Amino acid sequence: MEIRTIAVIGAGTMGGGIAQTAAGSGFDVILEDVSEGLVVEGLGKIERRLETRVAEGKLESGGKNAIVGRIRTGSTLEYCRGADLVIEAVIEKEEAKKEIFTALDVLCPPETIFATNTSSIQITRLAGSTKRPDRFIGMHFMNPAYVMKLVEIVKGVRTSQGTVDTAKKVCDSMGKVPVVVDDSPGFVSNRVLMPLINEAVFCLQEGVAPREGIDTVMKLGAHHPMGPLELADFIGLDTCLEILEILEAELGEKFRPAPLLRRMVASGKLGRKNREGFYEYR
Ligand code: NAD
Repeated sequence: MEIRTIAVIGAGTMGGGIAQTAAGSGFDVILEDVSEGLVVEGLGKIERRLETRVAEGKLESGGKNAIVGRIRTGSTLEYCRGADLVIEAVIEKEEAKKEIFTALDVLCPPETIFATNTSSIQITRLAGSTKRPDRFIGMHFMNPAYVMKLVEIVKGVRTSQGTVDTAKKVCDSMGKVPVVVDDSPGFVSNRVLMPLINEAVFCLQEGVAPREGIDTVMKLGAHHPMGPLELADFIGLDTCLEILEILEAELGEKFRPAPLLRRMVASGKLGRKNREGFYEYR
């Protein structure tokens, strides 16, 4: 199936990054969130990132305008009606995602492919909220989506090979490297990454080392480009907690979130997105 128009639901960290990547690769994009203010904010962030690239001489200003010009915005799901592919990137809550897909299933033509950027929720369960489980797939972009090459392609029990092929083709057009993985909680990326982040939070909580010490050990000792606490701030502490809770429910005790992580989220420290997490971003 030929994909020309991609609707991205959720204009936050991931949705904004995916919309930028798609528009930068020549797709027409519809960016949707629950309010006009949030889509304007999401589009503003995309524009600022592109302006930085222009200032660095990596993009012509005409190129920036063309990318932004390919992104239409909307604050209701009706705007997604004409899309060939919908990529959902809203909060990591199963019920919220299911509600969106059930509504989209009525709005969009039967050939439209539905993809979710979920980090940990099983694709087969989300697909069950629609009448098109064969045209439902996981496309798990990494953060920041406009930089990171990997997309985990997650095949649900009833996802058709045609849908997998189309999703891979879209990734190729975006210059991404798709890796097909099984529909298992957290897939590969978060099943391996989240215990690392969680253990780093336990280390901080138990006073094994201060935040900079923990991050430096992993950067210099394991050659990680970012320390686990910096990375948690980058991902969003609420998102990390939601993923760990899902992994704990599905795979057991070893994924139990560190109490410090819970306390930080409860106190409103969510990481870079609201300028305070394990570090401060003033
Ligand atoms: P975020 O909190 O930055 O953004 C979520 C956005 O979804 C918000 O703008 C919110 O207003 C919007 N939203 C909520 N309900 C909505 C609805 N009903 N309709 C439309 N928009 C709605 O979260 P994020 O970090 O971008 O994460 C989004 C998804 O991507 C999650 O499933 C997460 O697990 C996944 N993910 C996150 C990362 C990461 O590093 N942050 C990486 C890969 C995948």
